[in-house]
Amino acid sequence: MDSFFEQELGRLEEQDLLRTLRRIESGPGPSVMIEGRQVLLLCSNDYLGLSGHPALRDAAAAAMERYGFGSGAARLVSGNTNLHEELEERISRFKGAEAALVFNSGYAANTGIIPALAGEGDAVFSDSLNHASIIDGCRMSRARTFVYRHRDIDHLETLLREHPGRRRLIVTDGVFSMDGDIAPLPGLVSLAEGYDALLMVDDAHATGVLGRRGRGTAEHFGLEGRVPVQMGTLGKAFGSFGAYVAGSRELIRYLMHRARSFLFSTSLPPAVCAASIAAIEVIDAEPWRREQLWSNRERLALGLAAKDLIIGSTETPIIPVLVGDAGRARMISDRLFAEGVYAPSIRPPTVPSGASRIRTTVTAEHRGEDLDRAIAAFGALADEGLFS
Ligand code: PMP
Repeated sequence: MDSFFEQELGRLEEQDLLRTLRRIESGPGPSVMIEGRQVLLLCSNDYLGLSGHPALRDAAAAAMERYGFGSGAARLVSGNTNLHEELEERISRFKGAEAALVFNSGYAANTGIIPALAGEGDAVFSDSLNHASIIDGCRMSRARTFVYRHRDIDHLETLLREHPGRRRLIVTDGVFSMDGDIAPLPGLVSLAEGYDALLMVDDAHATGVLGRRGRGTAEHFGLEGRVPVQMGTLGKAFGSFGAYVAGSRELIRYLMHRARSFLFSTSLPPAVCAASIAAIEVIDAEPWRREQLWSNRERLALGLAAKDLIIGSTETPIIPVLVGDAGRARMISDRLFAEGVYAPSIRPPTVPSGASRIRTTVTAEHRGEDLDRAIAAFGALADEGLFS
């Protein structure tokens, strides 16, 4: 068996697809200690800088004092505390939905929700650049999955017309995690309503980020109340951990009975729920964080584009710098690291072959000078012709 593992790893190495872990040795922030060096962190999804916020730390510490750490069982056994319920109540208000259900992670949410909403004989319509957890949820559902071209409403309509199903589900990332562009929600909503399909949006990168009050993709487009299944994560802009789905009371009760990742997994530690509740309060009390995030986003995007780098169609704090070749992307990432900028290369299977990139993300905590330093480091490598 060992030789099988070696062979497979050897194959990955030949294709420049071997992965390594970077070891963080400090608390969160715009720069961190990695392997003994202080470097600018340009790849965290802690968009609002909440993971180190005193309100989250204090809430988690107080909850730990009272509840201990682990929850001890699944929600339906003995793992349901008042903090789990309070978090769901707060999320449903945050999202303007009737109800919400908390999951242990975004991955668990998507692989639980999608198979609960679609099964054999049903049809799922999925954007070609949806996150891996959505792809896996579609596979686990055993429904027929039709992949429409990225953000292509006309292609989706053709597929909807050609493939009637018992039940139909359209599923999309709100903000696409590797490209930073936004789903064409107005078109998706009208197709879903016109073709009697259920629409599910994954707001992992939109919660706390998009919309005037950070409510996500539906708020961004003024389509509150028109997306029946709104999933999002708590480990990114919320600075905490876990995920949620918000929707009608019936949807939430149904998922509580049918989403296997909810049913059969130990629930989140209560202290994690307390931190998420605190995050909602901070998001509402400190809107300047989102404003700072967006002004930082403009500074980095404009600065990189001015160096003639290709950043694709990003509209959000996720700013990919396209490279193409996996080996070159890895080398560029290593060179950036040597210059004190940590932004990893994203290679297949996370992105399609030939579409390797350096994925950068900004947070509210970056200072202008941090971003200018990153732009200069990218610019120096561009001058060497490494991106062309
Ligand atoms: N959906 C999307 C769009 C994501 O980007 C991610 C995280 N990378 C997930 C789901 C999974 O969320 P989690 O990290 O909480 O498992």
